[in-house]
Amino acid sequence: MGKVSKGVKCSVIGCNNEAERSISAQRAYLSNSLKLPSNISQAYLCKEHYKVWKKDTKEIREIERLRW
Ligand SMILES: [Zn+2]
Repeated sequence: MGKVSKGVKCSVIGCNNEAERSISAQRAYLSNSLKLPSNISQAYLCKEHYKVWKKDTKEIREIERLRW
């Protein structure tokens, strides 16, 4: 999970906010409610959408944590 340099926009379709976090697209796709382009390798999320992603993937990430 990386920090994002200034001026990078959120990858969510229709969102124009500045991105705050970057995660691999593979992980970003785990969220069902984020509309993301299908051809990206890295997803940039604004504060708001990062929150949505975290909420959506809470269970999945919990399972992953236990597995490792
Ligand atoms: Zn956004």
